[in-house]
Amino acid sequence: MNSSNDTILVVEDDTQIRNFICYALGQDGFSYLTASTAQGALSTLVSQQIDLMLLDLGLPDFDGMEVIKKVREWSELPIIVVSARDQDKEKATALDNGADDYLTKPFSATELMARIRVALRHAYKASADQDRTILSVGELSIDLEKHLVYLDHVELHVTPLEYSLLTLFFKNPGKVLTTQFILKEIYGIGYGTDTQALRALMAGLRRKIEQFPAKPRYILTEIGVGYRLADE
Ligand code: CA
Repeated sequence: MNSSNDTILVVEDDTQIRNFICYALGQDGFSYLTASTAQGALSTLVSQQIDLMLLDLGLPDFDGMEVIKKVREWSELPIIVVSARDQDKEKATALDNGADDYLTKPFSATELMARIRVALRHAYKASADQDRTILSVGELSIDLEKHLVYLDHVELHVTPLEYSLLTLFFKNPGKVLTTQFILKEIYGIGYGTDTQALRALMAGLRRKIEQFPAKPRYILTEIGVGYRLADE
């Protein structure tokens, strides 16, 4: 059961799917509101206290992608995109526009609830971490003030690029970061599309932070989309 009073906004025009989601939310003790159009979603968001939005991309009035862009102009609200379109490019675009995670239809109630809990936990963690200078996941910590990285309390020697990469993940806990976003953040303007460079950088970092680099525990690969920092 969910013990908090989180309210989820379910934006979905397919009645069957919307009912399925709402039933699952109710079972887990979440409060929810629904909208079946992009306009409906936006007017609910400005008038109600919402803690997370589940957003279908294919809406009757305008594209869910536009909803993400609009919401991100004023809010850091966690957004999980729910889409029938199993296309990596679309997932990446939604994430680049500011979505936190995505679910591809069909999905189970268990999977849906797990994603919601992770997104809510990260939203709280991100706001609690705002003023913190030392951030940790499992045995891995980063000291943003001293620019040091520790694994199991032992200082790790990382290159400036590896440090930037790690900082990026720690500042976006649990969020899927697309390859394009990471390249732009790490290498700056004119980064091109050198995904090979990022792969090499990631491999080097994983050798330092992971016990089993081929089965990473900290920075997980989202196939065809990017990477995310693990939960714990
Ligand atoms: Ca739809």
